[in-house]
Amino acid sequence: MGIRESICGVEERIAAACARSGRRREDVRLVAISKTFPAERVREAYEAGLREFGENRVQEAALKRPALADLDIAWHLVGHLQTNKARHARELFQLVQSVDSLRIADKLDQAASPGAGPQPVLLEVNLAGEEQKSGARETEAEEIADRVSRLVNLDLRGLMLIPPYCENPNDARPYFHRLRKLAEKLRAAGLPGIHELSMGMSHDFEAAIEEGATIIRVGTAIFGPR
Ligand SMILES: *Cc1c(COP(=O)(O)O)cnc(C)c1O
Repeated sequence: MGIRESICGVEERIAAACARSGRRREDVRLVAISKTFPAERVREAYEAGLREFGENRVQEAALKRPALADLDIAWHLVGHLQTNKARHARELFQLVQSVDSLRIADKLDQAASPGAGPQPVLLEVNLAGEEQKSGARETEAEEIADRVSRLVNLDLRGLMLIPPYCENPNDARPYFHRLRKLAEKLRAAGLPGIHELSMGMSHDFEAAIEEGATIIRVGTAIFGPR
């Protein structure tokens, strides 16, 4: 199956999930995660209509970009960011979804070049407290979000979640629900800008949409297995 057909399949699944949950298609952004795939595949997906792409490594994104410079793409960073790559990340990504600590938020804030607007970011939350994964713990999310929101060179727009892998996507649903509740709590606590919920990947994005995702990150279902 070609990329165009795969995207059609993904769009059908998105439409069905939106219909089931009474949501509008335009309220869910599809970000195609192109990590490990070459620039030519990104171009094919672009030609099939996609405009937002995500990478998990700064280096890999930087290597791919020159071959795609003629395309009007919004790039997202979805993987852990090292402090020494903060400046580079600001140059490359329209949305850094993976701010996972105050330390990296500070570095990104300090890496602003004069005159550039605030960098849009999401706070990644590790709801299950998995040791091997990055992300702020639920208990510290409010304090970190509050402090990140005060950094003038960052624009905190919402939360990102990578839940524990669940064979059955319905088992991830409680995590999606909790992320939404956490965003509501943060808004009520005086952070009205927290409205994006980045959650849902190839095997579970329908459940995520039904629980309120505004951004889904889909790799395998578009580009095939890595
Ligand atoms: C790779 C990746 C995805 C896409 O995963 P698929 O299962 O291939 O859809 C989504 N989010 C993050 C953070 C990733 O690293």
